Amino acid sequence: MPRALIIDGKTIAAALRQEVATGVADLRRARGIVPGLAVVLVGADPASQIYVRTKAKATRDAGMVSFEHTLPTDTAEASLLTLIAELNGRKDVHGILVQLPLPSQIDQHRVIEAIDPAKDVDGFHPLNIGRLASGAGALAPCTPAGCVILAKSVRRELAGLEAVVIGRSNIVGKPMAQLLLNENCTVTVAHSRTRDLPAVVRRADLVVAAVGRTEMVRGDWIKAGATVIDVGIQRLPGPDGRSRLVGDVAFSEAVDVAGAITPVPGGVGPMTVACLIKNTLEAAQDRP
Ligand code: NAP
Repeated sequence: MPRALIIDGKTIAAALRQEVATGVADLRRARGIVPGLAVVLVGADPASQIYVRTKAKATRDAGMVSFEHTLPTDTAEASLLTLIAELNGRKDVHGILVQLPLPSQIDQHRVIEAIDPAKDVDGFHPLNIGRLASGAGALAPCTPAGCVILAKSVRRELAGLEAVVIGRSNIVGKPMAQLLLNENCTVTVAHSRTRDLPAVVRRADLVVAAVGRTEMVRGDWIKAGATVIDVGIQRLPGPDGRSRLVGDVAFSEAVDVAGAITPVPGGVGPMTVACLIKNTLEAAQDRP
């Protein structure tokens, strides 16, 4: 049985990060601007702390400035909105990211809508969602943007492909569908109410799984030669007692059917951070 090409997200992300670092150096030389990314974390969720540290390091590694704001779990919504207003007004801050999820006393939508859309490097502001949907230039959400780059690394042309996105969250599934539509794919968005999901997935030349259910997508759901992008990340206890990361796709089965597939870890994950710093550079470049 032929085995799929493994899409090396780590290497592709490293190349993108290098490209961003070059762009940062050029911007500094040409206009004296050093891009700055402010990352705001509310609370002490261990996974969120790791994400924030990783994002801050990638920012510094690219030659940009990282501003980190850690607020206590019981922070009032008004205090967070005050901080965002301050960051919106700062000339040295080009990108603002509020790490999600937020504690329950804070309305996530109100916070996202408070971010200056020009600094919304997560691409979650309704204005950026609307611009993405209408085909205008927008800061696109980082994870789906990374998925497009990974798909393009193995498919010269996405136009005309039958694409199935499993999941319809605001941060992955919906913007993913939008980006693939912009690439002229024929897009189906599947979700928990989809009937006969295996049959829907079997139609796909390109599958993007963003569900959060360990190895839900089996090998016999995959059309021979399809490109499979696995966004899911779950931590499971391994047989040796150490935890391991697992995706939404049963990799060991799918690898024998697909034409190309992302591994977990080392696929989509590294691209998310690389696309975040790319968005920050673009936000700084676009500043008049
Ligand atoms: P989410 O908000 O929980 O959304 C999950 C989606 O999957 C929902 O739309 C849900 O449908 C759908 N779903 C759930 N069970 C299903 C089933 N049995 N059949 C079909 N669809 C089903 O999750 P998310 O934030 O999009 O994240 C998805 C996964 O990606 C998670 O594992 C997350 O950790 C991972 N992730 C990774 C990165 C990265 O950088 N690699 C970034 C973000 C997220 P309904 O809408 O009908 O409920």
